[in-house]
Amino acid sequence: MLIDGKEISKKILKEISSDLHQISKNLGRKPALSIILIGNNPASETYVKAKIKACSEVGIEGNLIRFDINVDSKTLIDQIEKLNKKIDIDGILLQLPVPKNLNERELIEHINPLKDVDGLTAENIGLLNSGTPRFIPATPYGIMEIFNRIGVSLSGKKVVIIGRSNIVGRPLFSLMSGRGENSNSTVTLCHSYTKNLSEFTLNADIIIAATGSANILDGSMIKEGAIIIDVGINRLDDKSRKSGYRLIGDVDFETANKKASYITPVPGGVGPMTITMLMKNVCNAAKRDK
Ligand code: NDP
Repeated sequence: MLIDGKEISKKILKEISSDLHQISKNLGRKPALSIILIGNNPASETYVKAKIKACSEVGIEGNLIRFDINVDSKTLIDQIEKLNKKIDIDGILLQLPVPKNLNERELIEHINPLKDVDGLTAENIGLLNSGTPRFIPATPYGIMEIFNRIGVSLSGKKVVIIGRSNIVGRPLFSLMSGRGENSNSTVTLCHSYTKNLSEFTLNADIIIAATGSANILDGSMIKEGAIIIDVGINRLDDKSRKSGYRLIGDVDFETANKKASYITPVPGGVGPMTITMLMKNVCNAAKRDK
């Protein structure tokens, strides 16, 4: 069965909107998110555009702060510090990846953890890993919410996550293997050094593919009835499209769909959930004293 991320997102956004109304009333202003974008990476441009659009649709003040690709780290840190101090800014997001000459970790650590709506500061990673999350990174948050909404219990399930980034694989590992109400899975975290991936995936009840490598998983690598969550976003040249490309996931959808009990499409699966859960994190940030 296809998991319709757009449909689930719509429902959650509806729930958020009444919450937002109340928060705006209490604050006397809309909750606000500042996004810092460095350079003009086309994928980042697309993601940022979608985030700003979602903000305006839901009633969040979204503002984009752009920097040239050659910006130095002092200028960026000064900007982050300025946003940290502004009482009318609730969330700060540094769009990743940053250009290679900049130290991503150093920049992230300057974000006030109470405004770190991506949940990427060491403090927020620590809180998540100790089972008391403040902000759950939006993509893993969205994936956990998918399981809630389709009514699939994770307890006792064998899960394989492919990809170990700080933004997807690692936090998801922590959430799914945690003691929370709907977690308690046995999770294996695979990556590019994993030998014989099929050995792991063929035993899994749930597989999350988050690699950025197209067709890393196909029907021959999954067991009948497995649940497949495809996080990957890959651009495939397609001259028939106006844009010149189309988006595909990490999973060979056609063959995997024949065996899966549930599967997320790309686009329209995890992507909309990510944006929605970011909105939820901004709401949560706006409710806190900073
Ligand atoms: P990263 O590049 O930070 O991490 C990719 C991970 O996948 C790494 O751990 C890497 O292993 C592993 N990997 C790469 N190729 C292979 C392979 N052939 N076999 C096994 N493991 C592999 O990416 P992100 O986590 O940031 O993003 C992953 C994908 O998800 C991207 O396509 C991105 O665009 C997409 N994405 C989608 C979102 C959405 O909302 N739908 C949100 C965020 C990301 P190693 O560590 O050994 O290098």
